Amino acid sequence: MIEFNHVSKVYKEVKALDDVSFTVGAGSVTAFLGPNGAGKSTALRILVGLSRATSGSATVFGRAYAELDGPAHRVGTMFAPNAYHPGRTGRESLTLGAMTLGLPRRRVDEVLDLVGLTHRESRRVVKGYSLGMRQRLGVAHALLGRPGVLVLDEPGNGLDPQGMRWMRGLLRGLADSGCAVLLSSHLLHEAEEVADRVVVVGRGRVLAQGTMDELNRGR
Ligand code: ADP
Ligand code: ADP
Repeated sequence: MIEFNHVSKVYKEVKALDDVSFTVGAGSVTAFLGPNGAGKSTALRILVGLSRATSGSATVFGRAYAELDGPAHRVGTMFAPNAYHPGRTGRESLTLGAMTLGLPRRRVDEVLDLVGLTHRESRRVVKGYSLGMRQRLGVAHALLGRPGVLVLDEPGNGLDPQGMRWMRGLLRGLADSGCAVLLSSHLLHEAEEVADRVVVVGRGRVLAQGTMDELNRGR
């Protein structure tokens, strides 16, 4: 569902990505794990068309992002930090998102429920939401269109251990219903907690990949 094929990205002085290849299949939650500056955001941005690879290609549903069309090819994304209108509540923010995608209002109720924000829906996001609640709202936005591919940049930021367990349950459920999930994290324990597969990156290169068991056995 997600494929990186020898992707490199060079900024003026920096090689942000160096020959990155990996795939994420349907039903998998994969963590892209590495320290700050490793190239995680760059890779995710290239995947969803926010930036261009210098060489190589990244595809979703077997196509370049710009060539995707229709509900069968929906990709949900969350990139931090998300900017929210100061006057808008969580529900209003999602309602706008749903309208943009041409979705019925009841989808807003469904995603609010999925991320556990129903009881906070009428608070203003900027003044009334904690970082963890903003992460949940960001995930709710990403889920609006019932995406088959979900791309989340550092979704664990601002979540406490309980929030991380919730995130694991949510992502596992989505994967079990056929979604391919790719998330980035700079924390090993976080990646270990939410993902069933890990792709370790450092200085733009893939250093290792596999299940946690495989990595622990040193393969
Ligand atoms: P991560 O998400 O793992 O923290 P990034 O993808 O943000 O890493 O950054 C990878 C490297 O590329 C870093 O050295 C960063 O400074 C550099 N970089 C990222 N975006 C740009 C840009 N737009 N212009 C120049 N350098 C960039
Ligand atoms: P390109 O089109 O060359 O891929 P991007 O559009 O990906 O560049 O740049 C993304 C954003 O990252 C820009 O808004 C830029 O201001 C910002 N940026 C610039 N330098 C850096 C850096 N060193 N690390 C991270 N982000 C950066």
